[in-house]
Amino acid sequence: MDCIFCEIAEKSSEAEIVFENDKFVAFLDINPVNYGHTLVIPKTHYDNFLTIPAEDLVAMTKLTQYLAGVVKRALKADGFNIISNNGNSAGQSVFHFHYHIIPRYENDFHMRPRTIEYKNTEIEIYREKIKEAVTKYEGILNG
Ligand code: 5GP
Ligand code: ZN
Repeated sequence: MDCIFCEIAEKSSEAEIVFENDKFVAFLDINPVNYGHTLVIPKTHYDNFLTIPAEDLVAMTKLTQYLAGVVKRALKADGFNIISNNGNSAGQSVFHFHYHIIPRYENDFHMRPRTIEYKNTEIEIYREKIKEAVTKYEGILNG
């Protein structure tokens, strides 16, 4: 399978790696939205947030928490965004699961999507749709 992040994990493509262990790699995004924009990936290929095994997701999230703190300190950032784009519609362009760590500075840029409004009782309809699905799929959560 042609996957640039698998290639980076296997070292057949170059990247500016800032951290690596047996399961994960973190490297600089080649098209950063701020200097030091870092990507965290599992070495094993999973398409997205839903398909990575939960145990690996927990380990990767812990690692991302640690790395976000490190990046923030190293670059004297005021804050950071942790982002995961999932699916074409959400802006995912590399279909190998990853977290973005984006260092942020006061007044650097706006990253808020547009907001919409619920009309009348629409919010209740959406609450019910999701609650029903939560009940239906509860078995998955409880194993
Ligand atoms: P996505 O859009 O899937 O959430 O994020 C993919 C990210 O990977 C993008 O921000 C893009 O700039 C970065 N990217 C794509 N190809 C490469 C590459 O070959 N090397 C590095 N370091 N980053 C890449
Ligand atoms: Zn891959």
